[in-house]
Amino acid sequence: MAFALSPLPYPDTALAPAISAETLSFHHGKHHQAYVDKMNAAIDGTPHADASLEAIIAASRGSNQGLFNNAAQSWNHAFYWHSMAPATTAPSADLAAKIDAAFGSVDALKQQLKDRGLGHFASGWVWLAEKDGKLSIEETHDADTLADSGFNPLLVLDVWEHAYYLDHQNKRPAYLDAVVETKLNWAFASENLARGKVWTYA
Ligand code: MN
Repeated sequence: MAFALSPLPYPDTALAPAISAETLSFHHGKHHQAYVDKMNAAIDGTPHADASLEAIIAASRGSNQGLFNNAAQSWNHAFYWHSMAPATTAPSADLAAKIDAAFGSVDALKQQLKDRGLGHFASGWVWLAEKDGKLSIEETHDADTLADSGFNPLLVLDVWEHAYYLDHQNKRPAYLDAVVETKLNWAFASENLARGKVWTYA
């Protein structure tokens, strides 16, 4: 069964000025759609056709790079849309306590997310993740994902140029600052932490 493009959980104007409707029209409507379409073409008529997206990612890792890239990018982008909100939300008490333990404060975590996003060479993803009850910032390159990694991903930032070039051109720090300070969905991160297992694409 073919996968549908995961819809944006807000109107396409909701993230401006950090991320404009024009960026979302390309990033969600063209880039994300293309990853889903290419994945659907690759699994059609194969044993993957009835599998979950998470199972396809795990099965194709290391053995079918083309399918893995499109499946992982389909998952990563859906998770990224949920990692942001029209107005930033607040962490749960449990998440706030784990942030304090790992980073000292929410503000310190925000600074580290921005620093890691800026320092990430070329295309990839910067994650807040949980493993064995402890939080950490993780980076994956290109399409690589934490969906099948042993980590429970809580939030992600897309640091591919297509995420910010129309709005901020080459200024990745401006994109990271706007998203981290005004759009992060800490309520989503809190739900992921409370669930205690990896979010699933639907
Ligand atoms: Mn992207």
